[in-house]
Amino acid sequence: MNKKLNYLILLTILIFVLIGCEKEETIIFDTLTEKNFNKVDPDKINHYNIEVKLDEEQMTYTGKQWTTYINNTDRTLGELYFHIYPNAFKTKENAPILFGKDGGDTSQYIGGNIDINKVTVDNLELDYSIEGEDNTILHIKLKEPLLKNQKLKIYMEYNVKLPTAKERFGYGDRTINLGNWYPIACVYDEKGWNLEPYYTLGDPFYSDIGNYDVKIHTHKDTVVASSGNILSEKVEGDEKTYEIEGKLIRDFAWVASKDFKIARGKIENTQIKLYYLDENPSMVKKSIKIGEDSIRIFNRIFGDYPYGHYSIVMTEFPTGMEYPGIVFIGEQYFKGKFKDVLEQIIVHETAHQWWYGLVGSNQVKEAWLDEGLTTYSEVIYTNEVHGPKKGKKYLTDNIKIGYELGKNYLLEDDIVNKPLKDFSSWDDYGILVYTKAAMFINEINDKFGEDMLYRILREYFKEYKYYNATTDDFIKVCEEVTNTDFHDLVQKWLY
Ligand SMILES: [Zn+2]
Repeated sequence: MNKKLNYLILLTILIFVLIGCEKEETIIFDTLTEKNFNKVDPDKINHYNIEVKLDEEQMTYTGKQWTTYINNTDRTLGELYFHIYPNAFKTKENAPILFGKDGGDTSQYIGGNIDINKVTVDNLELDYSIEGEDNTILHIKLKEPLLKNQKLKIYMEYNVKLPTAKERFGYGDRTINLGNWYPIACVYDEKGWNLEPYYTLGDPFYSDIGNYDVKIHTHKDTVVASSGNILSEKVEGDEKTYEIEGKLIRDFAWVASKDFKIARGKIENTQIKLYYLDENPSMVKKSIKIGEDSIRIFNRIFGDYPYGHYSIVMTEFPTGMEYPGIVFIGEQYFKGKFKDVLEQIIVHETAHQWWYGLVGSNQVKEAWLDEGLTTYSEVIYTNEVHGPKKGKKYLTDNIKIGYELGKNYLLEDDIVNKPLKDFSSWDDYGILVYTKAAMFINEINDKFGEDMLYRILREYFKEYKYYNATTDDFIKVCEEVTNTDFHDLVQKWLY
């Protein structure tokens, strides 16, 4: 063998190794990993095309948004409504700061808001007004009525100021949280338009499935975690541009930080990304594992998570919060005295991908429906990952005892299924909407057995995936699967 041949062999090996490495690096995870859209026609849902430019010096952004709105109601619409949630953050007194004003340091509060500058259709300006509590509703009057099944492309421009709030929306020292940050169409259901304000209690959101194309411009050193699938990120000069696609998702949220590092995992068809702020290898590994285990178990028991991407984001935030394909997890859970609840928080927010994300519900009117199922999903996860003994202990410690102790402190009544405005505080909301609602699901488990409960959850998921379901829909599935009248159980636990 001569030297030249050796060189050629070496070169060939090197090329193979490089191609091999390249392959490792570029596994493509599709935006949607399944073709079964549960009878949803992806061309007949709202489409949001948003271009946003974030100014991290001023803590502002400008948005250009093309919303293709489709009239899926059974009547002609002469007007449309959008939630413009950033206006809820104008003043410290009214801002939806989680867990009340004592929850965070709001002494130096600088308010946030959204200014709508333009609303047009085919370059013609439309009449609009800003309405509702805290000016969180954009009311658009159409020039021509929008017939049933007809589409309309509405263009908007807006300027937004971010508040100093380590909340769903706002910024802290290291992260900028962008939940509920753009105008999103209000839901029109059998009761008409849902124009509820941004309550300070609960997760006061209700939305329809849509498709998203979002272009985000940030500083070149900024890392963005988001809903959907990041298709590309390009740096030009001082600016970085992200192109992101989301299909059949209920909302779109993102978090920006110059301090983010990314770790990756994979479970079945989904890539899991952990965006973290501090080096802590064991917590990074643990967080990815919790995400993988949750998705694996819920895929098997409820039905498949249909997206190729899931991001767990360590951020400055008082608790955990779910958005489609992305969850905000407070940085405090990754270290110090709260780190023992990290697992619970990640599992809970991941379960919301099924109960809220895929099967939607009106969280303003029936918050128990997603929170009760999600809280009980923590028990299912514990059972499956840590075994029935630990599952039983989890149920006792976190749900049964919590409910027994908590119910003595209920101020008004013990009704679970009621709108947010009828709860007096986070205390009774927590005991009723999370704990007592999970007790209801547990009673179904005790009465009919685990197999039957899983059949109910699977059937409910299959029937309502990508839609919004109601309490009545859930109860109907329970009754059909078990062939039993649920009236007494419902009265006992929900009213
Ligand atoms: Zn929850």
